[in-house]
Amino acid sequence: MTRIAFIGLGNMGGPMAANLVKAGHDVVGFDLSHDMLKAAEATGVKAANVLTEALADAEAVVTMLPKGQHVLTVWTDILRSVPKGTLLIDSSTIDVDSARKAHAMAGDVGCLSLDAPVSGGTGGAAAGTLTFMAGGSTESFAGAKPLLEVMGRKIVHCGDAGAGQAAKICNNMILGISMIGVCEAFVLGEKLGLSHQALFDVASTSSGQCWSINTYCPVPGPVPTSPANTDYKPGFSAALMLKDLRLSQEAALSSGASTPLGAEAAQLYALFEKLGNGGRDFSAIIEMFREAE
Ligand code: NAD
Repeated sequence: MTRIAFIGLGNMGGPMAANLVKAGHDVVGFDLSHDMLKAAEATGVKAANVLTEALADAEAVVTMLPKGQHVLTVWTDILRSVPKGTLLIDSSTIDVDSARKAHAMAGDVGCLSLDAPVSGGTGGAAAGTLTFMAGGSTESFAGAKPLLEVMGRKIVHCGDAGAGQAAKICNNMILGISMIGVCEAFVLGEKLGLSHQALFDVASTSSGQCWSINTYCPVPGPVPTSPANTDYKPGFSAALMLKDLRLSQEAALSSGASTPLGAEAAQLYALFEKLGNGGRDFSAIIEMFREAE
């Protein structure tokens, strides 16, 4: 049993903390939202009224927060309170530069640190089947692995500080671009009188196959579990896709990488959000292409 402080008990953090409790760990949670704290308490997480209360005697700290600025602020406070050697794991999706800053801050006071963003969404968080992409030292990864294995099914050590965040945004840039490609193909197919099923049967078994068509098909019918069948209820919201595409473009700018399709995908999702679709599943962007005709 490990004594864990879990900071950020939202849509993802709440169920992740609950799985740590289920596995027998002693989890004390903190969230600025009283409602989220209460919901976590109902799953066996002990509620702390202030951050420092959650940190008392913690051997490991997990943060699951919205953005880089939140992580840097919270980690600054955490690192003031915890003893040397404490392991800090950040599972939020944040920019690579902030992730590297957070590692440096932890290193300065002798703490272990890991960036470990996830994919798999709220369903994966609840089921304990997330994929973790980790960046940090071998020692930090070894310490975190048993905890990550409770919350996830696949755990990949991607490299040093920031490598987990880098893998996450590269993967999601592929996803944003491929979803747009699949949506354009279905809209073209409709214009050409091709049935959704016929295009799916061909493309899902030919060179056009990818997760966006085979598993998450953006039209109703061919893949019964895809959000297209439930009026694009997320799933993975367009707002979160836009967030990740913007992170990819920040990283492209700061590293000098050329990502023209990533830039275009970010612009298209920004437009889609502006039209009031941020809360819908990201595959609903197919409707914007139909309407653009
Ligand atoms: P969320 O908004 O539901 O939860 C974030 C929680 O952090 C909130 O409850 C908020 O009150 C709390 N918080 C903010 N500042 C705080 C502070 N200073 N101290 C304590 N608590 C604080 O967000 P989420 O959906 O759980 O996502 C968390 C992270 O995981 C994000 O970076 C997101 O991009 C990433 N992510 C989300 C999904 C998803 O499907 N929701 C999937 C993969 C990754």
